Amino acid sequence: RAKTDITRAVCFYEQSMDETVRARRTLTSELRQAIENNQLDIHYQVQTSISTGEVCGYEALLRWEHPQHGFIPPSEFIPLAEENGLIQQMGEWVLRTACIRAASWEPPYKVAVNLSPVQFAHTDLPKLVLEILIETGLPADRLELELTESTIFADRERSLHMLRQIKALGVSIALDDFGTGYSSLDTLRSFPFDKIKLDRSFMSEIESSPQAKAIIRAVLALGKSLDIPVLAEGIETQGQLTLLSAEGCDEAQGYLLGRPVPLNQIITSGQISLMSSELLEGTATAVR
Ligand code: C2E
Ligand code: MG
Ligand code: MG
Ligand code: MG
Repeated sequence: RAKTDITRAVCFYEQSMDETVRARRTLTSELRQAIENNQLDIHYQVQTSISTGEVCGYEALLRWEHPQHGFIPPSEFIPLAEENGLIQQMGEWVLRTACIRAASWEPPYKVAVNLSPVQFAHTDLPKLVLEILIETGLPADRLELELTESTIFADRERSLHMLRQIKALGVSIALDDFGTGYSSLDTLRSFPFDKIKLDRSFMSEIESSPQAKAIIRAVLALGKSLDIPVLAEGIETQGQLTLLSAEGCDEAQGYLLGRPVPLNQIITSGQISLMSSELLEGTATAVR
């Protein structure tokens, strides 16, 4: 009897494994189609200077609207794309599209683009970035690349070399999700970051946990002494913003200041102005 139960359990297990594998396979081929058919989009989330309240730039965040399942979050499809190499093509699309669009914004707004560890490991990134800057005409100092410590973790020598080459172009580099994962002080000492993005997991506790607040304070002090501006991610309440302002944090990003929205929404709301409508039309045909 016990044996039958186990057999049945194993069968069930194998069946559901099968289903998971099949679902992933389907999603993968749908993602491939979405890339080819230009069904991916980019939303933009504002990054604001805390002391002046001025807009510094926008982070480009990838969006996939699945024809049947609706919105699929990046946390689901990016790992999938990383597993099967699709991230290369996808990452290049995001970078190119974000640069084409930002080239038509009035200066001085920057666009910040996320890089995947896989993309970083398998692409001649300095060459790609240079090609895209030339092709789109976006001034290098208006592009920021965001990467996490897991990106540089695999091969620190090569990463350092690539980051230096990218910086030499005039592009800036932000350390994303700081405080989670492999965070180490050695990384801050050895790598030429232009910005530290303090992970949003600290923000939810900033008002209730003395520990979270102490860590935030320490990171801000570190940023000050290393002369690297700190941006706080995931600001949702006025209380959090006030506290960070009092602690001397440089920039903020979060739902309180603006959710990620489609490009036309930041244009029509007057948050950014375009250099000319002609450029907008050119952009629209180039990316759509
Ligand atoms: P990230 O780079 O740390 O981006 C910030 C994430 O936090 C975004 O999630 C954003 O929507 C969310 N967020 C911003 N403000 C708040 C807030 O106040 N509260 C809360 N709860 N969340 C907030 P999203 O768009 O789902 O992206 C998740 C992650 O997926 C990103 O984290 C990034 O690691 C990755 N990702 C997104 N787009 C791309 C891309 O084009 N390429 C690569 N390689 N990764 C991307
Ligand atoms: Mg980011
Ligand atoms: Mg982040
Ligand atoms: Mg993140």
